[in-house]
Formats: sequence, C-alpha cells, structure tokens
Amino acid sequence: MTKNKIIKSSNISNKDLNGWVNNHAIIIENGKISNVINQEGIPELSSYEIIDFGESYAIPGIIETHAHLQFSATHDAYEIYFNEDEDQRYERAIKNAEKSLLSGVTSIRDLGSPNNLIFPLKKDIDEGIKRGPNIFPTGTPITIKDGHCWFFGSIAHNSSEIFKVIDNQLNLGATHIKIMASGGNFTPSSNPRISQYSYETIQETVNYCNSNGTYLCAHTLSRNSTIQCIESGVQNIIHGRWFDESTDKAYSFDKDYSKMIVDKGIYVDSTISKHLLEYESELKGEKQRPSNPNVNSEPSYESIINIFRYLDLEGVKIIGALDMGMSKADFNKAVASAWAHVEWLGFDHWKAIRSITITNAEAMRIEKSKGLISEGYDADMVFFKNDPSKNIRNLVFDPQHVIKGGEVIF
Ligand SMILES: [Zn+2]
Repeated sequence: MTKNKIIKSSNISNKDLNGWVNNHAIIIENGKISNVINQEGIPELSSYEIIDFGESYAIPGIIETHAHLQFSATHDAYEIYFNEDEDQRYERAIKNAEKSLLSGVTSIRDLGSPNNLIFPLKKDIDEGIKRGPNIFPTGTPITIKDGHCWFFGSIAHNSSEIFKVIDNQLNLGATHIKIMASGGNFTPSSNPRISQYSYETIQETVNYCNSNGTYLCAHTLSRNSTIQCIESGVQNIIHGRWFDESTDKAYSFDKDYSKMIVDKGIYVDSTISKHLLEYESELKGEKQRPSNPNVNSEPSYESIINIFRYLDLEGVKIIGALDMGMSKADFNKAVASAWAHVEWLGFDHWKAIRSITITNAEAMRIEKSKGLISEGYDADMVFFKNDPSKNIRNLVFDPQHVIKGGEVIF
C-alpha cells in the first residue's frame, strides 16, 4: 500500500484539460486523487508525505491505445520475432513495458500479442513483480489462415469460430477484442488491399461483442474493409485506410463516410505518429521496414495526412495511437501522437494533449477513472519541465517525474 501524498506543482492541467491551474497541489489517497487544492490550503501539520515538484507541468498519465509489447520497434521487427523463443519475447516485452512507463505512459492498450505472453505479463505488473503501465490486453487477434498476424493470431473464418475465440479471450481477461479486417503491411502473406471477412461476419462480431459487454477494435487498411467496419459500427477503427483493390492505385478515399463515422460514435486510430517518426527517420537516411509484396503503390504522407485532416474537420474523434513495436514506433515515444496531431493535422495544443489522455480513455471506456487530473481519478500523472501547451515538442521522451496509481516511479 503506497502512503498518502500531497504533490505540489506550479502548473497542473485543469479538470477540462484545456488550461493550467497554478501553484496547486494534488492530494493522493489510496492511489486515487482525492482533491486538487491551492498550495496555501495545505494543512501545516500533515500526516501526508509532501513532495514538491516545483516548476513543472503536470498532465494526466499518458494512455497509449495501440501497442504490441513483444515487438522490437525496428525495421526488422518481423525477423526478430521469429528468431526469438518465448522467454526472449517475454523479456523483450517487459523491457518495452518499463520503457513506456518511464516515458510517462501509465496505461497501455495492447492490440495483439500471444496469450501466453500478455496475460502473464499483465499479472506480473499488477502484482508488482515487474514494472510497467496498467496493461489493457486483448491477447491474440482474430485473423484468417495466412492472414495478418496469423503467427500469433487466433484463426477463425466464420461467426461461430469467431464467437469461440471471443469467449476464450474474455475468459483469459481481455478488455477488448481485436479483429484483422484486412491484411497488414507487417505480414507478407496477407494482402492489405482486401477484406479478410464478409460484411455480415464483421456485423455479427460487433453484435457479439456488444452482447458480451466488450468492444471491437478492427485493423483495416483496405477500402472495402474500412467501409464494412464503418457500416457495422466497429467501436474503434484501427488505421482506417482506403487501399484500392487495384495495385495501380494507392487509396480510394470516400469522403461521404465521414458523417457515418461521426453518427455511430466510432473512434479512429490514425497511427499517423508512426508515419511522422518514419518520415524523420528517412530524413536521417536510416533503414526502413520492407513494403508488403501485395501493395505495390504506396500512398504519400500527404495523402494520408489529408484524409485525417478532413475527418477531423468533419468531427471524427481521432485518438492517439502509435502502433508501438512496429518500425520506428519505440515504446518511449507515445507523445509523438500529440506532435503529429499538432504538426500534421492542425490540432490545437490542448486538443492534442487530450488525444493522448482523456480522448483515449473514452475510446477504451475507462474515462471515469483515467485520463484526467481530477477528484476521484486514479493518481496517474506525468510532469514535464517545459510548457507543452506552448510547444507540443515540450512533451519529451524523458519527463521529469511519473506517478502511477499514487506511486512515485521517479
Ligand atoms: Zn498494430
């Protein structure tokens, strides 16, 4: 049990996460925030441990919605995965988890890992044996034979097979279900240009998740699968790309679907921050991941940016999502989603900060306990030296302090 604490900071993000309150203190009791008060109001004889973080900028602990903890985040992540045994994968995953925590990530949603890795890892962190963020696991994603991530996925081709997988994942402790609605760039045997399932199967999967008190995250790169996911009301659309079936074209984006995304309350994970990191890495001349053999014509960064700019302007809720573990998307770089949202999509700074905290909490259905520095919320927070509402790159990979569940990590 961690001791009750009072944390002083010159700048603490307010309840609406759109400005600072100055010279306040966060009161932490039993791992939760019980109040945020003016520093002048702190009682002198206090039984609480008082910690003064002085000049600092405190925001809620970062919530990363898209990670694969077992991968290396290098251009050769695919080969490395196949060369490692189960113990090595676990060691890598736990190091990645710790790295993310030290960068200010206090909650992390895993969107696809082997069951025998992610559930024991979560248990080890929850029990305090290992150090890492709160893990929200899905375990094995649902995919088809030779489809995207078949090598650690659960193979299921029709609704009844899918329902069996969902039952199993929920029994293991999955907080959400992941389905690969199209092929993926990472898996050479899969085709990102085509749907892996019928519309009816996706719709029945959404319905089954709803009736079991969970929600569906769907990886989708092809135009057809993205439309299937929008029409069937998949709660979190992952990537949401528009690859045409023809290899002559890159994307065939259909603007008319933006209204349906808004009306159905779908959250969209753009993974645009991964592209920002790839772009900056290319400028340095570093080695990049190989292209998927089924893709041929790759989209430009500009065309990807334009789609998500348009969707944002139409009111679509875009969540911060790095796709941690993929090439260049290292586990200490969750803040790059806020950078990309400001620099590439034109978000204002506070909206970008919300897009790595409370907006992500909403997408993950944990917004009542995580994503704000406010009374009743879990005491997860991160402190930066310089003001991120002035310059979004003040969200650096190495913050000054991190607190998770009331425990001062450093
Ligand atoms: Zn992913």
